[in-house]
Amino acid sequence: MARVLRAVARAVVPVACPGCGREDVRCCDSCAALWWEPVWRAEPDAARLDVHGRAALPVWVAAPLVGPAHGMVAAWKDGGRRDLDGFFADVAYRAGAQIAPHLVELGRKVRVVPAPARAASTRRRGVNLPLALARAVAEGLIAGGMQCEVVSALAIGAGEQRGGSAIDRWRGMRRAVRVTVAPDPGRPVLLVDDVVTTGATLAACAAALEGRGSPVVGAVGLAAVGRVAGDADPGLR
Ligand SMILES: [Zn+2]
Repeated sequence: MARVLRAVARAVVPVACPGCGREDVRCCDSCAALWWEPVWRAEPDAARLDVHGRAALPVWVAAPLVGPAHGMVAAWKDGGRRDLDGFFADVAYRAGAQIAPHLVELGRKVRVVPAPARAASTRRRGVNLPLALARAVAEGLIAGGMQCEVVSALAIGAGEQRGGSAIDRWRGMRRAVRVTVAPDPGRPVLLVDDVVTTGATLAACAAALEGRGSPVVGAVGLAAVGRVAGDADPGLR
């Protein structure tokens, strides 16, 4: 009976691996395995991460944003594949657990702050993806011995713009990211975003938080691209 129901369900909503297109599987083993590599540091390839005049933030990611991994992220972010929420939460959890040893030396409770999602994106998806990832990263940090709390401290306001030069967009984005909760001066912050392209979004988030007295010690993303041309999309949702 269950087999019949699955067959009916497939006929109505065909399922395929978002990485390689293999049919009748939500996510095949070989595409899933791309996300089981140890986290690595992506900031050397994030061209705009240091625009605000300080050393580039440490940015840990789980996979390069190419090939099947890119397809999986795209299906999850913009293809309505809400069935992948748990998969990417697991990736974020493992990332948190792996970086905990690097942060535990801070000796302080850390604020885990998601990058701001556009309200329209959250409505369309039915879930705030950076916030969901931040919660999973925090669970991983706690499993790794850290004290932390998730704080949705950032929002996107007016000022963000598309078009214009990369630096114009970056300036606009920097104006657009607002801190929406009372700062906890000196409390270290770990940023969380889904993908890291140029690093401009993370740089704008870090600038906003540090302008309010919250030191940003690093960032976690699911995936990152390599160095991109200077006029590439800055990556804000
Ligand atoms: Zn696959």
